[in-house]
Amino acid sequence: TVCGIGLEISADYLGLIALDLGGEVVAEHRAALDVRAEGADAVLDRAAATIRTVRRTLKARGTRLVAITVAAPGVIQRDSGVVSYAPNIDWRDVDVLGGLRARLGRICPPLQLENDAKLGAIAEYLVASAADIQDLIYVTGETGVGGGIISDGRLLRGSAGFAGEIGHMRLQPDGERCACGRRGCFETLVGLNALLDHAAAPDDPVRDATVDLEERLAELKRRADAGDPATRAALDTITEDLGLGLAALADILNPRAIVLGGYFAFFGEYLVDRVQLELSARVMAPDAGGCTVLASTLGFSAAARGGASLSLDHVYRDPAGV
Ligand code: BGC
Ligand code: ZN
Repeated sequence: TVCGIGLEISADYLGLIALDLGGEVVAEHRAALDVRAEGADAVLDRAAATIRTVRRTLKARGTRLVAITVAAPGVIQRDSGVVSYAPNIDWRDVDVLGGLRARLGRICPPLQLENDAKLGAIAEYLVASAADIQDLIYVTGETGVGGGIISDGRLLRGSAGFAGEIGHMRLQPDGERCACGRRGCFETLVGLNALLDHAAAPDDPVRDATVDLEERLAELKRRADAGDPATRAALDTITEDLGLGLAALADILNPRAIVLGGYFAFFGEYLVDRVQLELSARVMAPDAGGCTVLASTLGFSAAARGGASLSLDHVYRDPAGV
């Protein structure tokens, strides 16, 4: 059998998923990684080592790897495989595909690069298309806030490929400083650090980036479930701010669904219904234009899954033609 791999470089972890042609997961890997602190070379070393290990395991099982799609945050040059600018990990002009090719040498499979949230949107679309949803916005809450827009069944790329950078919509001109250097971006309001700032003191262990993100979020969830006022208040603030940004998007793009991913999905039971109410209260169209807010079921693996699906595409299509 054959499989395609999606490898995600996120601000907080390195994730990998291999899917076979039936869409079944045949290999999976995730490790906490503070990408900003480690720096690009060390991250690419880790990524190459992970690919080598997984490739060996697949080979031993007689599974052939057809291609790898790398998911990374920020503005991506697909042709050259370079991350031009990723504010949330502080990367500028990092040649991701060149770096991986150099490390993997002759065993290097075909590689392509795409924005993490766009790949997450593709993964969600493949799930949601079963429900015949052709217009959706995927919004993921991580250290950065990412967006992928599917309109009429097509991924919106824009003229230079970075359509959907919703984390950097400036909602508060005098707000907090964003990693991108400007103030009041959506990401400063609803990104992971905003949640942590609202919910936890500076020395709280939930802020320890060396600990797996899901473990830290599980601790926050326990607190919310136990009725901890700080955590609940933090989620209230996030709900309101999410409503503010998503209503603007819904007014412009008229999606059938907004799928919340990353930590937003993790706190789905606290956020989804209330964000839906916020949205309905704020948008121009009656009944919020028929837009339903949903929690992703793919957790933090959406980008890697979307990448793995696109990699399988390589069997019959040129990777640059995704
Ligand atoms: C980046 C996006 C990315 C998101 C989530 C943002 O800071 O600009 O490209 O999708 O973080 O990683
Ligand atoms: Zn910004």
